[in-house]
Amino acid sequence: MRPTRLGPPDAGIQATAPAGPAATARITSLTVHDIRFPTSRELDGSDAMNPDPDYSAAYVVLGTDAPDGLAGHGFAFTIGRGNDVQAVAIAALRPYLIGRSVAELCADPGSLSRDLVGDSQLRWLGPEKGVMHMAIGAVVNAVWDLAAKRRGEPLWRFLAHAEPEWLVSQVDFRYLTDALTPGEALALLRAGRDGLAAREAGLRDRGYPAYTTSPGWLGYSDAKLTRLAEEAVAAGFTQIKLKVGADLADDLRRCRTARAVVGPDIRIAVDANQRWDVAEAITWTRALAEIDPYWIEEPTSPDDVLGHAAVRRAVAPVRVATGEHVQNRIVFKQLLQAGAVDVLQIDAARVGGVNENLAVLLLAAKYGVPVCPHAGGVGLCELVQHLSMFDYLALSGTTENRAIEYVDHLHEHFVTPVEIRDGHYTAPTAPGFSAELRPGTLTTYSYPDGTFWTADRAARTTEHTAAHKEEQG
Ligand SMILES: [Mg+2]
Repeated sequence: MRPTRLGPPDAGIQATAPAGPAATARITSLTVHDIRFPTSRELDGSDAMNPDPDYSAAYVVLGTDAPDGLAGHGFAFTIGRGNDVQAVAIAALRPYLIGRSVAELCADPGSLSRDLVGDSQLRWLGPEKGVMHMAIGAVVNAVWDLAAKRRGEPLWRFLAHAEPEWLVSQVDFRYLTDALTPGEALALLRAGRDGLAAREAGLRDRGYPAYTTSPGWLGYSDAKLTRLAEEAVAAGFTQIKLKVGADLADDLRRCRTARAVVGPDIRIAVDANQRWDVAEAITWTRALAEIDPYWIEEPTSPDDVLGHAAVRRAVAPVRVATGEHVQNRIVFKQLLQAGAVDVLQIDAARVGGVNENLAVLLLAAKYGVPVCPHAGGVGLCELVQHLSMFDYLALSGTTENRAIEYVDHLHEHFVTPVEIRDGHYTAPTAPGFSAELRPGTLTTYSYPDGTFWTADRAARTTEHTAAHKEEQG
């Protein structure tokens, strides 16, 4: 096991790399942007716990002095206030990046991941959870983006064709070996290579199944729910998801409406976003059973492993799904060990980046639990599609009972947005992790000084002054 590093390295004291401008290239900058979108105004993304999210990204760009001019892009997703805190946490990692050899970093992102997780002082803010861990995820993902771009491959393909031994070396097995050893992980990855070429051809042809949450936000009217559910079925989706948990009578009405619209053959998942205690989760889910929900998502606290197990036992055959707020691989391990979940929902930007998600995918494969990633927000679809496609090609070998969440928001801000065709994510072809935002998005939605937010403040000030004058008059 590596010794815990005592502190971040000083810039520029890395071991000397081989000669030549590409070989000696270093990371020269880590820039963070606080990007916020005013999504709360349309109630997009509204659920029982988060009634007014402003989808946001603490967005990081790694610059290098390599002649190829490539940069690494990554982000943590937040829902508004606190995105500045997230951005500061990412900036706190800067000393670990500046001066680091690009070639060495891209050949072994796991070493950076271990250094960041092991910082002897920052570690106190977790360990391996919350704002600091999400900051690590953003930076580590930016490195994977850069590594895949340098290879000229989309990340899904870069991972699927990587040597199993190397992939195992990228996983931190600390705290996992009672459930999954490196030897078992290697065996899973080696077995996963069987039939890779045929699956890849199929993936390029059909894409990876998606389901949509667009119809089901809690703040939408029944008319909007009906229209969007009809559109989802017409667009080829075979599963939709509805937010629940604020009011049972409302939930029943909305779920019945959705079921009547989509018919018996389309799966309807329901998502409580952690709203309930365990007993309430059981009662409420049983009450919704009449509309045949496919899964109940986040019925209770994401930390409550035994609570999820109790809910699962009580509400079967309705499946239990969770993971978007699961903070690290250790909690995922426990959920699997306790038989607490039927569906595991990884999130590309919640845990410590690709390396930790590799660990979670391996755990899920070992326990035979399907992974249906959380996505939506801003850019989560763009990122996580790569992980599911890798999972299919190199690990699970199937898309049966698997689908990636899809929400039709904010994709236009990305240089290479996701493409959905007939209810499937199209396999990305552009090199990298699909994480890069358009330059215009940075100038418009940077908070608080982007052009959108500046104009918004000015408009509010004018409104306020007018209202004040009226009062005075
Ligand atoms: Mg959810």
